[in-house]
Amino acid sequence: MIKIHITEPDSDEWRDWRSRCLLATTKLCQDVANGEEVVINEVLYREMRQWYYSSDGPFHGKCAYCESPIAETQGGQLDHFRPKKWVTDLREQRVFIKAADGAETPHPGYYWLAYDWRNLLPTCVGCNTINAWQTPGKRIGKGSRFPLKGTYADAPGLETDEHPLLLNPTEAIEPSVHFEIDDLGIVIPKTEYGDACDAVFGLNERGPLRDGRQNAFRQGFNIVLSLLDAARAADKERLEDCSQTLNSFKLGIAPYSAAGLAGIAKARPKAQKVMHNMSKVSAALGIESQSKDDVHEPDV
Ligand SMILES: [Zn+2]
Repeated sequence: MIKIHITEPDSDEWRDWRSRCLLATTKLCQDVANGEEVVINEVLYREMRQWYYSSDGPFHGKCAYCESPIAETQGGQLDHFRPKKWVTDLREQRVFIKAADGAETPHPGYYWLAYDWRNLLPTCVGCNTINAWQTPGKRIGKGSRFPLKGTYADAPGLETDEHPLLLNPTEAIEPSVHFEIDDLGIVIPKTEYGDACDAVFGLNERGPLRDGRQNAFRQGFNIVLSLLDAARAADKERLEDCSQTLNSFKLGIAPYSAAGLAGIAKARPKAQKVMHNMSKVSAALGIESQSKDDVHEPDV
């Protein structure tokens, strides 16, 4: 998982959709207040799905949770981060809320966020659908799970006081605080939030995810070494290629960028040592400055 910087599109089509979503939300809230059943318009919230899935969009065609590519390999799914109609905890037990009179009723779901663009995330089938990836003895996939610390919000606006254990990459979090990724592509949770994400999404149970992260880690590590070689050889073309690959990880464009960045971080001490030696060579030769075309300092 990496942090996603997301901004609302500036288009008439988007504004029209948002207006209709607002009307639908108002009606849904009125229906619930009148004791009617929650009925979600599945077509309406999916209308802008291509923006969420697009490789040119803010999610770069990847699953928001595991970073696997979904734009080309599968249709992907549009997940409601806060479940729209049914809420369960980490163990898939239905969440109950307590009324003022002490009576407990099943949580109705975050119906007021069913059409909220910020509550929608593009995901792969494995992350979103329980048991799409079958592992004996384990239940992988988000489904209606929404574990949190403390009290569940049961009315519009109260969700801002919640403390979800699942991480939303579009919110003010830094995923690297919660996970480490090693050279085998294994995700090592560092916090209870990381633990919850690992349990729900089966980050270490799904072989293709591990393989993808391992490849990205190696690519990140090797690209730093290639960059140093290219700098020594004054190979401008190779330098450019290496820089582009580095940036695709830094910008979160490449699949499994978090693993690629972990590989880059692993190679950084070696790069720093080489750079230190280069500065000694410069000093020995009395080279104080170079023309712009001759500067090939790796940006790692
Ligand atoms: Zn996923």
